[in-house]
Amino acid sequence: MRESGQTPSIRLVDLAKDFGSVRAVAGVDLEIADGEFFSMLGPSGSGKTTVLRMIAGFEPPTRGRIELAGADVTDDPPFARDVNTVFQDYALFPHMSVLENVEYGLRVKKVARAERRRRAVEALETVRLGEHVARRPSQLSGGQRQRVALARALVNRPKVLLLDEPLGALDLKLRREMQIELKQIQREVGITFVFVTHDQEEALTLSDRIAVFNDGRVQQVATPRELYEQPGSAFVAGFVGTSNLLDGPAARAVIGRDGVFSIRPEKIHLDPAADLGGLAGAHTVEGVVREVVYLGSANHYVVELDVPGGSAGASTTLTVLRQNLDTAAEDPAERRGDRVRLAWLPE
Ligand code: ATP
Repeated sequence: MRESGQTPSIRLVDLAKDFGSVRAVAGVDLEIADGEFFSMLGPSGSGKTTVLRMIAGFEPPTRGRIELAGADVTDDPPFARDVNTVFQDYALFPHMSVLENVEYGLRVKKVARAERRRRAVEALETVRLGEHVARRPSQLSGGQRQRVALARALVNRPKVLLLDEPLGALDLKLRREMQIELKQIQREVGITFVFVTHDQEEALTLSDRIAVFNDGRVQQVATPRELYEQPGSAFVAGFVGTSNLLDGPAARAVIGRDGVFSIRPEKIHLDPAADLGGLAGAHTVEGVVREVVYLGSANHYVVELDVPGGSAGASTTLTVLRQNLDTAAEDPAERRGDRVRLAWLPE
């Protein structure tokens, strides 16, 4: 994926944007490699879309520089940049067929008819819509419309595809299916994807690397695994996965040290029998099960610990994930109100 010395597909240098007195983007430095699936993840209002719009050329930066394939494009208009954008609302022409929608950009560029047709059909086959070329957008499902929008961007063969919450309008099941397809399509076409989302699971599923945004700044850039296993801050730990933070008195009582600690739910063993033979040197703590959430293949247990509250003052709880290996078991062995012992390895 990333090889040092290679010119990045996109380089942002101290990129900033103010809207009047609102600082939307407060100085972002990023390098995105050629062919990378790169996501910008963060809460609403953290500046992701504004960064994307500046890369596309729709929004002039207040400060900073944008390079595409090594060339400074900061002052170039959108059409002069080798990027295409896919928006959440698709923006398809309702009176045109699927094929005409996809051909449209090439027609504007005066590409000859036969060539146009060939490339549009090829793009539609890439997004697996080859058999629906004659339909109108109104005759398609949400997922299919999303694919048309994608084909319309791919047909231009851009070096970079910018995607702003492209799956946001789809229901959850379709969204999960499209995520997998999107990843496959990206691998097939091999172009750089820059993907904006506030859905952490989506970002973890799709991305080679993720930039986590907060307050107009990049908090951390890392692979999904690194973000999850080694979050660089409490904000990242809280935003990516269940954070299970211990701090203040709770940290001192359980870990024996000051600091802020995050323990992932699947790393915690929940064992009322305290059979911790294989967990020598583990941290342990007792508590009461407050909630059991059945998740199908696993259960979530929310356990209130017998320790003083953290810095927030409230009681300290940890969420524990346990796989349901024994599918024959009807109910989890532990129920609300049970006293349990939790243990995890210090690392
Ligand atoms: P979302 O996930 O909700 O789209 P985001 O992380 O993409 O959020 P941005 O849309 O980039 O965030 O917005 C960042 C900040 O800039 C917000 O405070 C927003 O209100 C503000 N902002 C964005 N566009 C404009 C604009 N055209 N005029 C004024 N303020 C704007």
